[in-house]
Amino acid sequence: NQVPAVRLNNGTSMPQLGYGVWQVPDSEAKKAVSTALEAGYRSVDTAAVYGNERGTGKALAASGIPREELFVTTKLWNGSKQRWGRDETLRAFDESLGKLRLDHVDLYLIHWPRPMRDDFLTIWKTFEEIAASGRARAVGVSNFRPEDLERLREVSPLVPAVNQIELHPLFPQAGLRALHASLGIATEAWSPLGQGKELLGLPAVVAVAAKHGRSAAQVVLRWHLQLGNVVIPKSVTPSRIRENLDVFGFELDAEDLAALDALGAGGHRIGPDPAVFD
Ligand code: NAD
Repeated sequence: NQVPAVRLNNGTSMPQLGYGVWQVPDSEAKKAVSTALEAGYRSVDTAAVYGNERGTGKALAASGIPREELFVTTKLWNGSKQRWGRDETLRAFDESLGKLRLDHVDLYLIHWPRPMRDDFLTIWKTFEEIAASGRARAVGVSNFRPEDLERLREVSPLVPAVNQIELHPLFPQAGLRALHASLGIATEAWSPLGQGKELLGLPAVVAVAAKHGRSAAQVVLRWHLQLGNVVIPKSVTPSRIRENLDVFGFELDAEDLAALDALGAGGHRIGPDPAVFD
């Protein structure tokens, strides 16, 4: 397949485009992930809290694709009314591996910083152990703010390989992207299509799509790829799963990129604010 690889700061590579499975029920995950793998995706983004690691694991096992060609991400759900320590973290990681039927994942992320709990430093120290054991080829974070990344830097020599954040033309995250670049952290965009709502119908997006004879989703994905973001669009519709991967046969020019960049000025989050999400 034509998906470029992004080199992470520990030397491993990650496909720049993968398949996200948030909101796919476990009973449908095997079918959806199988469709994506057949279409040519090799990277899958799940999380303990999505409740579909089992279905995802079934699809990975049934695919017959060699493990080294797959890139599997899951995330620690550090949220059950307690502060998470080393034991809870290791137990949760074991559970995820078991459900996925894997002996290692390619990327393990802290799902949210939950700064009010003040436990992500302990979790990160445990992630260092997990990384050292080889059971996660890379470790990273999700929804971390600049101040959260700074706190990690104070306690750990291990720089997150990735920060997976809400990012799309309506919420372009210029500040975090620049910070990531300076720290050697790859930027991964969640809800890259803005959850398929308002964004894909905006006149600016529709106009760029018409100019290239492509769909709105495809030009938004191109915008991400040309910025250097890793993207993980989600769909359960086979034609859209394929469409979202078919984004390597054209390029946006400076004018198109500027038209999409301009949407950021009036932009806003769709998802929760990491400062208060618990
Ligand atoms: P998305 O931006 O990928 O949008 C998905 C929705 O867009 C689909 O449900 C569908 O309605 C629509 N869509 C998809 N392809 C389309 C197409 N070609 N044409 C028209 N409409 C299309 O939203 P998402 O699922 O929120 O984000 C993607 C992935 O990011 C998730 O599945 C998950 O893996 C990850 N994620 C992570 C976090 C986090 O906190 N780390 C939060 C949200 C999502």
